[in-house]
Amino acid sequence: MRLPDEHGRFGRYGGMYVPETLMSALTDVEAEFRAAQKDPAFQAEMDLYLADYVGRPTPLYFAERLTQHLGGPKIYLKREDLAHTGAHKINNALGQILLARRMGKKRIIAETGAGQHGVATATVAARFGLECVVYMGRVDMERQALNVFRMELMGTEVRGVDAGSKTLKEAINEAMRDWVTNVDSTHYILGSALGTHPYPEMVREFQKVIGTESRSQIMEKEGRLPDRLIACVGGGSNSIGLFYPYVEDTGVRMIGVEAGGRGIASGEHAARFQGGTLGVLQGCMTYLLQDDDGQIELTHSVSAGLDYAAIGPEHSYLREIGRAEYTYADDTEALAAFQRLSELEGIIPALESAHAIAYCLREAPGVSKDEIWVVSLSGRGDKDVQQVARIMGKGHLG
Ligand SMILES: *Cc1c(COP(=O)(O)O)cnc(C)c1O
Repeated sequence: MRLPDEHGRFGRYGGMYVPETLMSALTDVEAEFRAAQKDPAFQAEMDLYLADYVGRPTPLYFAERLTQHLGGPKIYLKREDLAHTGAHKINNALGQILLARRMGKKRIIAETGAGQHGVATATVAARFGLECVVYMGRVDMERQALNVFRMELMGTEVRGVDAGSKTLKEAINEAMRDWVTNVDSTHYILGSALGTHPYPEMVREFQKVIGTESRSQIMEKEGRLPDRLIACVGGGSNSIGLFYPYVEDTGVRMIGVEAGGRGIASGEHAARFQGGTLGVLQGCMTYLLQDDDGQIELTHSVSAGLDYAAIGPEHSYLREIGRAEYTYADDTEALAAFQRLSELEGIIPALESAHAIAYCLREAPGVSKDEIWVVSLSGRGDKDVQQVARIMGKGHLG
């Protein structure tokens, strides 16, 4: 069965829990998205920009020294860190801006936490000459001042949000508010496979290029499908992008790695499947970190991109039907993986991606050398080196 269904549901997850004023905009976006999917001209345009602007296909790289070091399965890295702007987020931002152009929209809005999705959106807005406003919590703006400057360099206006914890959740609320007011002129480029229908499906479709490419690349290199797919899960877009083209291949295990932060017992983490419960946040029914009164809990992760209270609804569904498995890596493991991959492969991973590498460090020893694992290296770590230097006590660098 094709999911989501016509109500945007993956089983009991997903849906459209939004104000009436947004319903017609969302219906328009969905209709345009369906038309674009069937339009060879749209696909050709996507393919052109994915190749010449984003730099796809990204390589599937055999991490030989990491593999030898761990003494277990052959580990391949899907190199999304080599995509333009240094992460997978550009795949979705590009797809959505081409859609916005088809709809005749003149203005783009987006939310951002750490700034990665904001930068990807500012990038494509510059490329296509559309006005762009990015909402960002005031605390995040201070933590990620360099990304604020990057967006401004590309002509985007970054609007600080002072409500609540002044981070990602409040930035999404502000972006939604803007959209309700300016819906005729404006398209909202949401940054992950979450929120209201049709975003979880649309973002998945724009990100599934990760899985589709990796599938033909591993067939070419190894002549068979991998035994495991491994990806970090924030909202869930790089992971669903990798997993989706393999969903029917039940011999392929799919493993999502959430942020364990300072440990599950501490309560300071973003592992929605470790103690989270079913609820609705920002348009969507899914697993959330919330208290008994339904108040959203503060989350923590060393990696800002994994630090969000809700998980994309398709992951809740894949977990429920037993098709995908979810685990977590804590801050300490992620930092160790950040250093280990840098030393062994000369690749500095994003702290988000380091959670997927941490899974390999923990689980690969002892697993058969005959297994093949494909890991999503969702982004590069340049954005994180100052923060890691500070944590490692090299404060003079940060
Ligand atoms: C934003 C981000 C993530 C987390 O987002 P998903 O939607 O779960 O993929 C992971 N890795 C990097 C490098 C990011 O920038």
